[in-house]
Amino acid sequence: MIESPQALAVPKKKLTVKPKNRPALAQCSECGLCDTSYLRFAKRACAFITQHIGELEARAHGRERDLTNPQELYFGVHSGMYAARRKVPLAGAQWSGIVSTLAVRALEAGWVDAVLCVQSDPNDRFTPRPILARTPAEVLASRVNKPTLSPNLSVLDEIPELGITRLLAIGVGCQIQALRTVQDQIGLKELYVLGTPCVDNVTRAGLQKFLDTTSRSPQTVIHYEFMQDFQVHFKHSDGTTEKVPFFGLNTKELKEVFAPSCLSCFDYVNGLADLVVGYMGATFGWQWLVVRNAKGQQLFDLIKDELEFTEILDQGDRHQAAQQGIALYDQGVTIPVWIARLLGLVVNRVGPKGLEYARFSIDSHFVRNYLYVKRNYPHRLEAHVPPYAKQIVAQYELPH
Ligand code: FAD
Ligand code: SF4
Repeated sequence: MIESPQALAVPKKKLTVKPKNRPALAQCSECGLCDTSYLRFAKRACAFITQHIGELEARAHGRERDLTNPQELYFGVHSGMYAARRKVPLAGAQWSGIVSTLAVRALEAGWVDAVLCVQSDPNDRFTPRPILARTPAEVLASRVNKPTLSPNLSVLDEIPELGITRLLAIGVGCQIQALRTVQDQIGLKELYVLGTPCVDNVTRAGLQKFLDTTSRSPQTVIHYEFMQDFQVHFKHSDGTTEKVPFFGLNTKELKEVFAPSCLSCFDYVNGLADLVVGYMGATFGWQWLVVRNAKGQQLFDLIKDELEFTEILDQGDRHQAAQQGIALYDQGVTIPVWIARLLGLVVNRVGPKGLEYARFSIDSHFVRNYLYVKRNYPHRLEAHVPPYAKQIVAQYELPH
């Protein structure tokens, strides 16, 4: 007897998809820790549950940042700061490729067995795929930002399985805080931490909304960055660059785009890395390096001959622009594009430059995030905001 297709069909079972275990709930930045056996440390390690950056600074750098030193208040513990770029830029990197080159050199020199970094999903350039890279080619395949929340720490359980005992980890602040908390449990003999600053990250869906709201051609964007000239630069697949002034962004729409984790974050400059490589304290076209401790110095020395250097500027006064920006953002005001372009040109000409630009950006984001935590998690405000951030926010008049 031939059974009817209905009779052959496997009886439907109720599919139960196990919800991800995320103790930080909505504030989770998907750092990846909770996808591993280290989930058991999450309550202590998670940057959005237990703020203990001072204690971790003391462990990583030998001391906490000095709040009476204006430079450390903003940029964290450091022994050196440089504006530099590769003499020969690395094609396809986010900037000149200092991060990827350093990771390759550390592997080649035999300092480490692997590099924790993040490649892209083969089908979607913006979907992150964390990896323990064992070869220079695997590291190079991870170059360029994936501007979305990335579960970098999801590969931690593979470290002992692969026999890795010396690791270079690349990551943003929330990933590094969790890694620093559990680093003694991983069985590593050596750990180098190469950090990047990070702000305003998004989920993959949030990224699409940002691109759709802001770019003239969202489907062809291959790369973007919020630049020091007060514009977002979108690089398109045809090689063109589109510039959109910060002041013209649709703040009402975009308020909901940034991840709640990033709206609750006060570690913009990656205070726990050994060496930080970003751009925010350097003038346009240059990268910004912050050496935090002896290991950071070792990493910097490994690559310094491949770099050219320029001076670090520190010009202007950010306070008025930051105070005005706070009110505009809070009210969700969107300025017509032509006025935004004009404003951008003026601010770019007379506004803060170099380190003062970096302070402008830190002030604006810390105030926004302070208000976010105050309004959404008032019971956590006191414990969650680190002392240095409270001191920075206290310079401004806050809306209620
Ligand atoms: P590359 O050689 O291109 O290497 C990039 C490295 O970044 C790779 O090793 C990759 O593993 C890692 N990476 C990529 N995406 C992620 C991710 N989502 N999470 C963790 N690691 C990742 N700098 C600033 O000065 N101000 C900022 O506001 C700022 N925001 C950033 C936001 C994000 C989400 C990221 C990832 C970086 C941000 N940076 C910021 C750093 C900056 O954009 C460059 O990444 C940095 O200057 C290094 O450039 P590069 O050419 O040397 O990097
Ligand atoms: Fe876990 Fe990381 Fe999410 Fe915190 S941010 S809940 S540690 S995955």
